[in-house]
Amino acid sequence: MTARPDPLNDDDRFMNIALEEARIAAYAGEVPIGAVAVIGNEVIARGHNLRETLNDPTAHAEMIVIREASVKLGQWRLTDVTLYVTIEPCAMCAGAIVLARVPRVVFGARDPKAGGGGSVFQILQEPALNHRVELASGIKEDICSNILKDFFGNRRVRDKVDKIVKTQNSPQRTLRTQKIHIDNKGFFSATSALSAVKK
Ligand code: ZN
Repeated sequence: MTARPDPLNDDDRFMNIALEEARIAAYAGEVPIGAVAVIGNEVIARGHNLRETLNDPTAHAEMIVIREASVKLGQWRLTDVTLYVTIEPCAMCAGAIVLARVPRVVFGARDPKAGGGGSVFQILQEPALNHRVELASGIKEDICSNILKDFFGNRRVRDKVDKIVKTQNSPQRTLRTQKIHIDNKGFFSATSALSAVKK
């Protein structure tokens, strides 16, 4: 049997690679979640959420990585793979992880709204299923969750600026002037936050 990553030495290292993927996703305007499939000490697949890019509701980071790893290994059973993901897998991804017979999953932050690793559902360790996954969580938790919070925070700011710009371009000039005046403080903070995103 192929050696597994050593939890003490390797979990942080591989989670950092998943975080790199999450940052790539954010840069592309995707919800920043990244994942990595590892056998022994080797990354065999890495990827991030591509839902917007592919217009595919199933294109979560874990699904991308499971598919890539299966193609690379030429088999659907990923029995030597440790899967790292920045956020707790949802019900769909947890189901795919069980179907792929992944023996161990390491995730960063919990997802209290949709997590399939114990937060909302416990699919990964459901006793009725014929495969149960060893779980580790809380690895680089703050960084994993802050990337998401920053992304959604910046998106709210961007939407706000878009709204103001749209109002500026509208023929209802009087209404626009009033709106910008009312929103003046919010507008300036929004502008500075946007320039931070661009860096
Ligand atoms: Zn998912």
